[in-house]
Amino acid sequence: MNIEVDTHTHTVLSGHAHSTLLENAAAAAKLGLKGFVLSDHGPKLPGACPEFNLGTYPYLPDYIEGVRVYPGIEANIIDFSGSIDVSEKYIALTDYAIAGLHEVVLKPGTKAQNTEAVLAALSNPYIDVIAHPDNPKYELDYETIVKEAAKLGKLLEVNNHSFSYRKGGIENVAVYLPLCKTYGVRVAVSSDAHFALNMGSHALALRVIEEQSFPQELIVNATMDRFDGYLSERKSRLARMNKI
Ligand SMILES: [Zn+2]
Ligand SMILES: [Zn+2]
Repeated sequence: MNIEVDTHTHTVLSGHAHSTLLENAAAAAKLGLKGFVLSDHGPKLPGACPEFNLGTYPYLPDYIEGVRVYPGIEANIIDFSGSIDVSEKYIALTDYAIAGLHEVVLKPGTKAQNTEAVLAALSNPYIDVIAHPDNPKYELDYETIVKEAAKLGKLLEVNNHSFSYRKGGIENVAVYLPLCKTYGVRVAVSSDAHFALNMGSHALALRVIEEQSFPQELIVNATMDRFDGYLSERKSRLARMNKI
């Protein structure tokens, strides 16, 4: 199994990552990745850039080192109503937007509160995917979330980085992957690289996917064509809502 587009990667602009965009692109090219999403953290994470950094996106090249760079964001969910820390003016400049719960921004609430926050973030027309929903610190009602993702055509993540430092994540993925299969929800496999040498690191995520006999066709970023197809859906969704 192969992943052509890494959908979640960080640069020094996140404040706690170690490589530049050029270094990430060079590493991606070396690995044979066809593309990656530049998804630095939203401004509420300590050390992250103010949102006006996203204003540079229209001036970035589409390809670096022959690898497609998709401008994105990992926005923070900042309250249990699912608000995010990036304004519409700036998130509109992204091709792909991730929303995530991070303890330094929002302390975990009850299972009902965490679930409400995720459902509300998913309903934001710009948000495509929930980052590392396996995080055991945030108890979630997976069935409710997967059903909502199915209704909205949104994605869940299988985040390789999460498994390497969060105990209990793999057990949680083993709960939501079968639900995704049942309800036909697509997943994005990502490295969440904070260092160029971790670009394209998907081995742990792919191992769980194989163990769960998860259908390959539900991996939205297995091929670049499929990922681009999803991004066209996203554009239609935003156009329907008069966002573009
Ligand atoms: Zn994250
Ligand atoms: Zn991340």
